[in-house]
Amino acid sequence: MTSSDIRKKYIKFFIDKGHKEIAPAKLVPENDPSTLFTSSGMQPLVPYLLGRTHPAGKRLVDSQPCFRAEDIEEVGDNRHTTFFEMLGNWSLGDYFKKEQLSWIWAFFREELGLPQERLYVSVFEGSNGVPKDTESYEIWKSLGLSEDNIYFYGVEKNWWSRFGAPDKMSVGEIGGPDSEMFFEFTQVEHDPKYGSSCHPNCDCGRFLEIGNSVFIQYQKQGDGSLKELSQKNVDFGGGLERITAAMNDAPDVFKTDLYESIIQTIETVTGTKYEMEKEKMQVIADHVRGSEALIKDGVIPSNKLQGYILRRLLRRSAVKLRQINKDIKLNELATVVSDESVKAVINEEMDRFSRTLDQGLKEITKIESIDGKKAFDLHQTFGFPYEVTEELFRYKGQEIDREQFKAEFEKHKELSRTASAGMFKGGLADNSEIVTKYHTATHLLHQALRDVLGPQVFQKGSNITSERLRFDFSFDRKLTDEEIRKTEEIVNKRIEEDLKVDRKIVNPSEAKEIGAIGLFDEKYGLEVSIYGIGPGFAPDSKAKDQRDRGGYYSLEFCGGPHVEHTGAIGKIKIVKEEAISAGIRRIRAQLA
Ligand SMILES: [Zn+2]
Ligand SMILES: [Zn+2]
Repeated sequence: MTSSDIRKKYIKFFIDKGHKEIAPAKLVPENDPSTLFTSSGMQPLVPYLLGRTHPAGKRLVDSQPCFRAEDIEEVGDNRHTTFFEMLGNWSLGDYFKKEQLSWIWAFFREELGLPQERLYVSVFEGSNGVPKDTESYEIWKSLGLSEDNIYFYGVEKNWWSRFGAPDKMSVGEIGGPDSEMFFEFTQVEHDPKYGSSCHPNCDCGRFLEIGNSVFIQYQKQGDGSLKELSQKNVDFGGGLERITAAMNDAPDVFKTDLYESIIQTIETVTGTKYEMEKEKMQVIADHVRGSEALIKDGVIPSNKLQGYILRRLLRRSAVKLRQINKDIKLNELATVVSDESVKAVINEEMDRFSRTLDQGLKEITKIESIDGKKAFDLHQTFGFPYEVTEELFRYKGQEIDREQFKAEFEKHKELSRTASAGMFKGGLADNSEIVTKYHTATHLLHQALRDVLGPQVFQKGSNITSERLRFDFSFDRKLTDEEIRKTEEIVNKRIEEDLKVDRKIVNPSEAKEIGAIGLFDEKYGLEVSIYGIGPGFAPDSKAKDQRDRGGYYSLEFCGGPHVEHTGAIGKIKIVKEEAISAGIRRIRAQLA
């Protein structure tokens, strides 16, 4: 059975169970400043798991291409990839454990025909005051699984929330236990270096996780306890590459049809067999396949954000190619993909890098001990991404001081700390702090625009990078210079006042009553999270002017994250105001 057959069968199976197939999200999320890439099927659906009504209904199914930049270093074995496809199905307050586990079992057993004795499941054992998931355990047993094939694990393996373990969840946050499925490759011998005995979560490669059913059934309360949600959700995700490997009974995902032609091409261009240079070819195959998907989604190689990750993938692949065969021409890399426009982007990047790659590699052999300054020279002179240099020296047993590299970087580019932190996003340092500042500023900007232009102004979209915020809103004409100046002045005044940012969990009608804005055309099922910026009113306050927006300057539906006090934002400058379509304007602003 091919991967495409498996995908089709899965989608059809869940459509037959009353699900609607939804279009996958783009790899680069459009309205989520907190991440660079779509990394799971669940990610684009979080607002709906939090209670928003999905236009396609309560039962959804899709196949979502995913990219995980944080796994780049993990690639180079039989199962880790940065790019993969995740099959997913969801219940938004509809069916729960019994249906989900019975259906997913029927899918793997009856539709795919995987042998029962080689399927294992894991169930949450209970901890942090949360009970053991005996319900799932009983369901698995009733489906015919032997007790020997059911394993219990704690929060680190079988608990889901956006912030991890129950004690890490903030008030109002949702989460719950999950139940994973594993396939056993009986031909793989357990390696004692991973522990004295083998089990489904052992890393030796004998077991491969092929799916996970998450049961979102709890909400964190103010007193620290977890309360059962009235609307319980199911989120299932299973990697297509891994399911295909299980179907082939071959523990190497790079031997599935998804990678077949890529590996063959790499063998041809390098004149080397896969079995001889597995690790390097796995890296090249994964990175080129991931690059192809990113380029198709509009990413081009650059020194920041998603573009930097793409550059890293391509340049690391080039180094691996050269290590397999020192005479290889780098433009051979593009022969791995079929799309002409993707080829052109890869070739251009390879042209740029080939001018300096060999010299750089020669230079590297001369370096006896690496430090941040030398790593910077390799970056500056030869175009070696920092992480590639780091990897090359790690093989020699040498580590680089990353802070020293960054300091050098800032010195030479005369970059402000903010700007250099932006360059490093996704590559060298986490800039979530800057993104959080920009995001909080959009709340102030939204309200300031309403103050200046009137209450007909509503947010229509927003997009944030570490370098600027973009805010789209409804308004029917160009803003005057005076209006722009006033808006900017109000935002900066609110920042100077160092207002506190509060999160409240309320029900939707309550939120509407006190004048919270955002997303009112949607029907909410659950309690929702709103953020207020300002003093907020005392609970016993009767003052009429304080009833509006609960005494906050800004009050909006939002999931966060935000700074705690507006003073942390710094200062904002509006750099551009323009029309993007009839009745919709766009503002770009930067930290001044
Ligand atoms: Zn093992
Ligand atoms: Zn927000």
